[in-house]
Amino acid sequence: MELKQSAQLFERAKKSLVGGVNSPVRAFNSVGGNPLFIEKGEGVHIYDVDGNEYIDLIGSYGPLILGHAHPSALEAVKNAADKSFTYGASTVGEVELAELVKVAFPQMDKVRFVNSGTEAVISAIRLTRAFTGKNKIIKFAGCYHGHSDALLVAAGSGLATLNIPGSQGVPQAAVQDTLIAEFNDLNSVKKLIETFPDEIAGVFIEPVAGNMGVVVPEQDFMKGLREITKANGILLVIDEVMTGFRKKFGGAQDYFGIQGDITCLGKVIGGGMPVGAYGARAEIMDMVSPLGGVYQAGTLSGNPIAMACGLATLKELQKQDYDRADQMGKAIKDCLEQEAAKAGVDIQVNQFGLMVNPFFTNQKVVDFDSAKTSDTELFSKFFWAMAEAGLYIPPSQFEAWFLPIILTEEELEVVKNRIAKAFQSIK
Ligand SMILES: *Cc1c(COP(=O)(O)O)cnc(C)c1O
Repeated sequence: MELKQSAQLFERAKKSLVGGVNSPVRAFNSVGGNPLFIEKGEGVHIYDVDGNEYIDLIGSYGPLILGHAHPSALEAVKNAADKSFTYGASTVGEVELAELVKVAFPQMDKVRFVNSGTEAVISAIRLTRAFTGKNKIIKFAGCYHGHSDALLVAAGSGLATLNIPGSQGVPQAAVQDTLIAEFNDLNSVKKLIETFPDEIAGVFIEPVAGNMGVVVPEQDFMKGLREITKANGILLVIDEVMTGFRKKFGGAQDYFGIQGDITCLGKVIGGGMPVGAYGARAEIMDMVSPLGGVYQAGTLSGNPIAMACGLATLKELQKQDYDRADQMGKAIKDCLEQEAAKAGVDIQVNQFGLMVNPFFTNQKVVDFDSAKTSDTELFSKFFWAMAEAGLYIPPSQFEAWFLPIILTEEELEVVKNRIAKAFQSIK
């Protein structure tokens, strides 16, 4: 595989961009080599600047569930852009998108659009504190909720120790009210509630973790979490930035049969444009300005082009067959397991609908500690073998793969053949 142009561009990028990138997951630090520079996308395919073709299993880390430049989304974006880029005023698009989000998430009476998942969660933290009059929040080791100070603790593959900031520049004071529980371990939550009675404002969780690799909650974990938060007057904040519209039209909450108090969205909701959102029942959302005293604002929030893209994406998703999508996820999981076995490689594949993640370990992966048993050196080899075979997967063991829902049966066969080829070359 020829990567000369990418390598040259990366050298140039490093002189003007930090580490040559604008988000650290895009650097190839954990797999070695240079990041690929992408020229264009077309459906499920992307092409790098050296002309190599790949089937894209990253989907821009989540938003591109319809693949690249889906015709409906593209047309909506063009039509919106023809009128203007932004007004800083109300438009019908934001009302329509809010209405459609409420169809998918009936637990929301009201929605506030922001520009990223990070912003949605930051706003949700503020809201839990205002609503409950308490300060402490609980998050789970290995879960990522964006890069806000208070939640940059044990946030995925970085650090995992109680109350130690996961980044330089985060003062101790910013995380002193952040408590860490273990994913899939209700007792760890109960213990924190017992230790800090009447001090906890909210529990924040990814209903299916995707930022320590994919980790699906065990039977009744989410239900148990719903019960103990409710019983203790704690708001349950479900961060569906990754899981929203992924397993069904709606969220993981619908799938698990629970309703959080506040829901955060991002990624798919913008269809590739920068959109985040948070929403809840009226009693909670009416605390947000201009109705209430919780201040939160944004120059480009509800941007008309972004709203148009999100709206077209969600309308398209309403027509999609999510059962077929799940079968596709399962087919990839089966293929990974079979080909790994043939190559004599230990593997555990976690899958939730269109989210898939192989871990190179013989242990069941149920939380951050078990995720970390994966052989990351082997993953690096696998990553490059996959690229060589024409499959673009995240350059990190701890990032989920996102399958495009528009993948056809023929394209699925191509993916399977390429996976087989990759395993053959690393055995
Ligand atoms: C990606 C992600 C975020 C952050 O969203 P950004 O748009 O990158 O700020 C928050 N929570 C979860 C679960 C995510 O996957």
